[in-house]
Amino acid sequence: MAFSSLGLSKPLLRAVKEQGYDKPSPIQIQGIPAVLAGKDVMAAAQTGTGKTASFTLPLLQRLEKGRKAGANQARALVLTPTRELAAQVAASVEAYGKYLPLTSIVVFGGVKINPQMMRLRKGTDILVATPGRLLDLYNQKAIRFDHLEVLILDEADRMLDMGFIHDIRKIMAFLPKKRQTLLFSATFSGDIRSLAEGFLHKPVKIDVSPRNTAAKTVKQSVFEADKSKKTALLSHLIRHNDWQQLLVFMRTKHGANRLVKRLDKDGIKAAAIHGNKTQAARTRALADFKAGKVRVLVATDIAARGIDISDLPLVVNFELPNVPEDYVHRIGRTGRAGMTGEAISLVSADEVKLLQTIENLIGQTLVREQEVGFVPSHSVPLTKHNPNGNMPKRPKKPKKPKIKMAGTNNNANAQNKSNKQQPKKTNNRKPRRKGFGAKPKARRSSS
Ligand code: ADP
Ligand code: MG
Repeated sequence: MAFSSLGLSKPLLRAVKEQGYDKPSPIQIQGIPAVLAGKDVMAAAQTGTGKTASFTLPLLQRLEKGRKAGANQARALVLTPTRELAAQVAASVEAYGKYLPLTSIVVFGGVKINPQMMRLRKGTDILVATPGRLLDLYNQKAIRFDHLEVLILDEADRMLDMGFIHDIRKIMAFLPKKRQTLLFSATFSGDIRSLAEGFLHKPVKIDVSPRNTAAKTVKQSVFEADKSKKTALLSHLIRHNDWQQLLVFMRTKHGANRLVKRLDKDGIKAAAIHGNKTQAARTRALADFKAGKVRVLVATDIAARGIDISDLPLVVNFELPNVPEDYVHRIGRTGRAGMTGEAISLVSADEVKLLQTIENLIGQTLVREQEVGFVPSHSVPLTKHNPNGNMPKRPKKPKKPKIKMAGTNNNANAQNKSNKQQPKKTNNRKPRRKGFGAKPKARRSSS
């Protein structure tokens, strides 16, 4: 299948070729013709599978026809959950629309609103926005949607996770009823389906992602560690393995700041990217990281969502995420577009439950390792993935714990012994709710 057989116009094919894309990805093969046909679309595909082009290319083609935007009007609106993602989508719109006479504007919070209001005066074909700032602009009458033709909800699952549902409902209320609506998501949860039911009209449903399957190209492993030794271990691993570029995930902003300080002390250049940083600081950190000036980028889940850093060789989970789906998103930062990548999780004994739900979700028991000099004094109990995932299950009779650790290396032999004496709660005896571990509590607006 070639891009040229999807019905795209010459200027778009030329832009795609310049991006170096050989052939369309599965989501593009299915999505592009449906969007071109003017249909509503709800599409799920894993992170890094080219969803942006699957809506941007046909969108540009559709907007080529029709009337120009009037003052303060937008013809198409793309909503994204984070500033970084908004900037990235806007960059893609520019790149793919290079040979078309269409205009685009991106707006998000954390920067001055006045210049955005000025730019919106002339109107725009495509507006890319985060929900909070868009509402501000709308309330100040800087933007109007009387002639909106297409609405796109990008990373819809993330928008819901981040608590944007109310903002989205408010925005929907002032959009024209007659429009094309496209919804893109990494997964189809129940919440996403009900969102789609409310706002989409007879959507074409496209699901090209094996649900919740971690990218096959990512080599995943667990390093057992005491909680208090994780920072030292990470520092050691970076130097010992000479890792040159890695993205480290932390649960909290403070944790991220602390880690950066400590790495800097150890002579490892690091930068943090999270919601308390100014937009300028986040953009700079990302640019420095991409340029190789910063070796370690430390990010929280929300800040990292949707960032495209191509060819990233390694992702480290300093702590496991509370929501198992976030693990899949995190490791999706590496091994993109067919490249191989590696994901390492530093896991302490108190995280064993999180580890178990993650293993259930991805359907595999992760390989465990220990680093000489960092063998934990609190051993991490054995886990074994449940092939039925985290779905509720009738309780079974407790089985005797297995002695063998999954894929342990030789260093771990001593560990095995101590694990033998840990018969408690290593297997799934209790039925667990799907999506165990509650939704993320932190609700942060992107603007
Ligand atoms: P998603 O939104 O699904 O996470 P993106 O749209 O951000 O994925 O694309 C991920 C990366 O893949 C980007 O760097 C993009 O330029 C690249 N890409 C997109 N489509 C193709 C393609 N057909 N061939 C090669 N690379 C592609
Ligand atoms: Mg995307």
